[in-house]
Amino acid sequence: MKVSFDSICLHEMFTKLRQALRQRREEHALQRRQIPDAVWDLTLRRFQFLQRLDDVELNNLRRMSSLFLDIKEFHGVNGFELRNDIVVAVAAQACLPILKLGLSHYDNFVGIVMHADSVVASRERPDDVGVVHAYDEILAGEAVNGGPIMLSWNDIYSSAGQACDGPAYNVVIHEFAHVLDMRDGLADGMPLLPDSNAQRAWHDVFELEFEQFCRWVDQGLDTAIDPYGCEGPEEFFAVATEAFFVTPEKLKSQQPDMYRLLASYYLQDPAE
Ligand SMILES: [Zn+2]
Repeated sequence: MKVSFDSICLHEMFTKLRQALRQRREEHALQRRQIPDAVWDLTLRRFQFLQRLDDVELNNLRRMSSLFLDIKEFHGVNGFELRNDIVVAVAAQACLPILKLGLSHYDNFVGIVMHADSVVASRERPDDVGVVHAYDEILAGEAVNGGPIMLSWNDIYSSAGQACDGPAYNVVIHEFAHVLDMRDGLADGMPLLPDSNAQRAWHDVFELEFEQFCRWVDQGLDTAIDPYGCEGPEEFFAVATEAFFVTPEKLKSQQPDMYRLLASYYLQDPAE
């Protein structure tokens, strides 16, 4: 195709115009959804793992959290009142994993449904001979492809001051890891990666780490990652992401290859 000098100039002009418009939209959004100092400070005190970030990263997280609040729609269920500190707690923790990846990684959903407490969901599962069994599942959160994301405030709040002895637990990071996992349409523990080489490299490390982890859980050993990860690769990715951001040193010393795999995806090194 022949491209003239004029068309290159036009292309550059449109790119610059689009950037300027986006910047203006963002500045308006930041003003509309500014996070008050008191609420931001409270969020950092409650969720102390956020304080691993340096000043520049914290500023970026605060900015991204405002943009997140501007484009996502929160709904409180059964009269649950959505205070500012509640939505900021969700936004800040949801934006932590995508701090270096960009907010566009959450383009595939809009709604966030907040409950005061966990929810009991009725489920059905067929057994090996096809008989369907009904059971109740207690949910602290749930992510479905395309949204909305469901979260329980009681579970978010009570995990804030958790002791560091057991495996990491963070329902917000868990559900948003599922969102990242499902960007390619599959909940399989592999997020959207640039090409088949990257997918193969991911698969090679992930499978070994997943198998090793499940062996440890079967042997009753203490793990940095929540034993719930043995439910399947998609859950292993979600609980490993919790450990990566909440107790990174522990994950790095116990499963260094898993730590490095997540660091290469999230472009962050929280244990440093
Ligand atoms: Zn899960």
